Amino acid sequence: MNEPDNLPPLREVVQAIDLGAKKSLGQNFLFDLNLTGRIARSAGPLQDVTIVEIGPGPGGLTRALLHEGAKQVIAVERDERCRPALEQIAQHYPGRLHIVFGDALTTDLGALVAQHGGGPARICANLPYNIGTALLVRWLESDPWPPWFDRLTLMFQREVAERIVATPNERIDYGRLAVLSGWRAKTRILFDVPASAFTPPPKVTSSVVELVPRAQPLPCNGRILSALTLAAFGQRRKMLRQSLKGFALRGRSLDAHELLQKAQIEETKRAEEVDVEGFVRLAEAADQLTR
Ligand code: SAM
Repeated sequence: MNEPDNLPPLREVVQAIDLGAKKSLGQNFLFDLNLTGRIARSAGPLQDVTIVEIGPGPGGLTRALLHEGAKQVIAVERDERCRPALEQIAQHYPGRLHIVFGDALTTDLGALVAQHGGGPARICANLPYNIGTALLVRWLESDPWPPWFDRLTLMFQREVAERIVATPNERIDYGRLAVLSGWRAKTRILFDVPASAFTPPPKVTSSVVELVPRAQPLPCNGRILSALTLAAFGQRRKMLRQSLKGFALRGRSLDAHELLQKAQIEETKRAEEVDVEGFVRLAEAADQLTR
């Protein structure tokens, strides 16, 4: 059967270059171009937009993004074995696919976008599950804000997706990821993707999540917010006066009682009962107390 973009079917491409999936690189490939088309369209409209894709692998989503009209795709992949497949796509879409081999965790993605003409830019990716949350946290902590991307359309395991969009009422999922995400972005789950859609199939269902950066998030220092949520949710069943005991910032150990009082949060509350605004007040209080 002909593929919509007239390139060879992905299964054939992967066989030809003998690209066996490596677990260590979180490789679960999507071969169904109808599905990758759906993901690409959910990141759209793509005309005039530069897409940064993390982990293109053999290029299922890359092909869809280009076919759906992205101005250009900058694809950052760690696995050199994907080179022939990606180069074939680059030839099919002259000048529109820029392949960068490297670790997305240490690559300056904003600088890459600037090198290729700047925004509007957004990130769209079927993320390697082992570094997905680390990448997301990094993007949420971007400085300056608003960041260089105007949207994130990302595939995660369903359980991680639920942790991103959770609110304090959904206590099990609400945690550090929800606070950081909710602080800086509007989040929603777009749709689920069954494990059977991937090769090899992972053990769990996945979900595509959208995060749209807030133009004016509540002012606060992201790194402090991040450190505070780590401490507070590290012992999520404990009261904050206990979990924040000994919380240290800028080499100084803070008094939890003083910190909570300054942030106007009851000492007996647990982390999972404090909303994003409450954590922002805590971060602001910690910042002021250690300046
Ligand atoms: N986008 C392809 C798809 O949908 O079929 C592949 C997705 S697969 C879940 C994740 C991809 O991320 C793999 O190709 C893997 O090699 C790549 N990857 C893993 N760690 C990476 C890293 N640190 N930096 C860049 N890419 C990475």
